[in-house]
Amino acid sequence: MLTYRKISDLQTLVSAYKLKGKTIGFVPTMGALHEGHTSLIKRSNIENDITIVSIYVNPTQFNDKNDLKNYPRDEQKDLAILENNHCDIVFLPNDTEMYPTEDNRVFDFEGLEDVMEGEHRPGHFQGVAKIVTKLFDFVKPHNAYFGEKDLQQYTIIKFFTKQLNIPVNVIPCPIIREHDGLAMSSRNQLLNEKQRQIATSISKCLFHAVDLAKSKTVEEIKKWVSATINSVDGLDLEYFEIVDGERLLPISDFNTRKPVYGCIAVQNGSVRLIDNVKFNS
Ligand code: AMP
Repeated sequence: MLTYRKISDLQTLVSAYKLKGKTIGFVPTMGALHEGHTSLIKRSNIENDITIVSIYVNPTQFNDKNDLKNYPRDEQKDLAILENNHCDIVFLPNDTEMYPTEDNRVFDFEGLEDVMEGEHRPGHFQGVAKIVTKLFDFVKPHNAYFGEKDLQQYTIIKFFTKQLNIPVNVIPCPIIREHDGLAMSSRNQLLNEKQRQIATSISKCLFHAVDLAKSKTVEEIKKWVSATINSVDGLDLEYFEIVDGERLLPISDFNTRKPVYGCIAVQNGSVRLIDNVKFNS
């Protein structure tokens, strides 16, 4: 596995691979790697000649300074995981490399960022677009892999790559969960024992909501999820929305041909967790 910290070195290597006609798969991450990340790497390995993984905790997508400060970082452990999972190239830039000057670009996501994560984390998706457009430009991947765990992020990246004519296939990958259903997340390691235990209520609640959809209305399910999460001592519901998977707009009934998702954000002590579930097949 080759490790690069400089954009110019990475670009030289990428050009050489492209000249040889190799396909490049790309998995952008913020490190603290787990099986959610490695599932993306495995898929990239299957579908491409070369897999490039980036690890960079992108400051512009954090609206909360404490969240950025506390974000888990363990470079040595991450490198070992990447090596074990047959990553070919890891890109580990620092802040001055990625942001040599302030990036004041403003992206227009045509409303996709007005709901859920975008509403509760102002500027978050602007920061995501800043870093992802830069990374796509340096890596020039044929295929890029994103987890459906961050459904709104995937939707927005898919949207702006099309809007900006970026020649990359943006590929969604399923959510990987712990044995008890908790969606894997780098932030899970910040949970203490009790917080980790009650965190399972989030996915349990989502799965039960899907069952309830056979007999209850959208409004009834939203009320039930809200009451159930808030009844758990230590959990605080930030939002639960039932949306169509294309425009991410709240739906009022399940009678639609579009994919329907229930998306949730919950504060568990000082740790913010997100998850989602699909309501239809
Ligand atoms: P992050 O390091 O949190 O920025 O995540 C990097 C990529 O891994 C993103 O595309 C995430 O959606 C994806 N990812 C994170 N957790 C999971 C998971 N539990 N299952 C599948 N993909 C995930």
